[in-house]
Amino acid sequence: MQVPAPFDYVRATSVADALELLDRHGPEARVVAGGHSLLPMMKLRLARPDWLVDLGDLAELRHVTRDGDELRIGALTRHADLLASDVVGELFPIVHDAERVIADPVVRNRGTIGGSLGQADPAEDLTTVCDVLRAQVVIAARDGERVLDMAEFHRGPYETACEQDELITEVRLPVRPRSGSAYEKVERRVGDWAVAAAGAQLVLDDDGTITDATVGLTALGLEGLATDAAAVLLGTRPGEDVFAEAGRLAAEASRPVEDQRGPVDYKRHLADELTRRVLRSAAARAGVLTPTA
Ligand SMILES: Cc1cc2nc3c(=O)[nH]c(=O)nc-3n(C[C@H](O)[C@H](O)[C@H](O)COP(=O)(O)OP(=O)(O)OC[C@H]3O[C@@H](n4cnc5c(N)ncnc54)[C@H](O)[C@@H]3O)c2cc1C
Repeated sequence: MQVPAPFDYVRATSVADALELLDRHGPEARVVAGGHSLLPMMKLRLARPDWLVDLGDLAELRHVTRDGDELRIGALTRHADLLASDVVGELFPIVHDAERVIADPVVRNRGTIGGSLGQADPAEDLTTVCDVLRAQVVIAARDGERVLDMAEFHRGPYETACEQDELITEVRLPVRPRSGSAYEKVERRVGDWAVAAAGAQLVLDDDGTITDATVGLTALGLEGLATDAAAVLLGTRPGEDVFAEAGRLAAEASRPVEDQRGPVDYKRHLADELTRRVLRSAAARAGVLTPTA
C-alpha cells in the first residue's frame, strides 16, 4: 500500500483561520479540500507538504447562490452538490454535462470545485467549463481578496495565480440570457480522465445571431480558449457549416501528445468532432431548434 511521507494536520475553523494557519506553518503547508488530487500526489511523492490545513469544516465555502446576474459557487462545493443543483443545471447545463462524467460517485462526493481549479490538471474538466463560461475566481489573502478572470487565474498545467498562502473562496459564473452551453468527453472507460473533451457556450441575440461564443478543449494541449474557433462563429446564425469550420479550427489549435490514451491524429479528430457536437447542443439549448446551414 502506498502511503504519503509523514505530515502534520490541522483543521481550519474559518477562512481567516485557514489563512493564518498557512502563514504560521510556512511554505510547506498546503490546504486540502476533498483530497482526491492532493493525496494521490502525496502518495507518489509528487507533493510532500509538512502541514495539511483541512478546509472540510468551512461550511461558509459550500454554497450555490444566485446573486443578480451571477451564480456564486463556494470553493468547497462538491462535484455531487453541483450535479444535484437544479439552478446549476438550468443556467449552465455544461456543468451537469461535465459532472456526469467526472470520475465516479466516490470522487464526486468529496472532490470540490476549488480543489479541481486549484489542481489545474490539464485533463481536469471544470477548468475548461469555467474557461468556457467566462468564470471569475475569488482568491482570499490575509490582506484582502481579489477577483480574477480565468485567463489570469489559470497559468498552465498545475499552475494557477493562487499562491501557497492564499485560498480560492468562490467561483462566479455570469448568467447570460439566450445562451446555451454543453460539454462532451471521450474516455477509455466510465469514470476515467478524458482522452479528449470539448465545451462551448453560445450567446444569441433576438434574431438568433451569435453575439458571443467560447470553445474550450480538455486534455488536448490547449491553454485557455480556442479563440479562432469561437471567432468564426460570431455574427453568424448557428448551423452545420459554421460548426464544421469551428471544429476544424479547434482541431488546428489543439496540441495533443501521443500517450496511452491515443495517438495525435485520433485526438485531433476528437477535437474537431467534439467541438461540432457541443456547438450543436449549445445552440439547441440556447433555443435554436434546428441549426441551419
Ligand atoms: C480516481 C479519480 C478519477 C478522477 N477523474 C476525474 C475526471 O475524470 N475529471 C476531473 O476533472 N477530475 C477527476 N478527478 C479529480 C477530482 O475531480 C478531484 O476531486 C479534484 O481534481 C480535486 O478536488 P479536491 O477537492 O479533491 O482537491 P484536493 O485534492 O484537496 O486539492 C487539490 C489541490 O488544490 C489545492 N486546493 C484545494 N482547495 C483549495 C482552495 N479552496 N484554495 C486553494 N487551493 C486549494 C490543494 O492544496 C491541492 O494543491 C479524479 C480523481 C480521482 C481520484
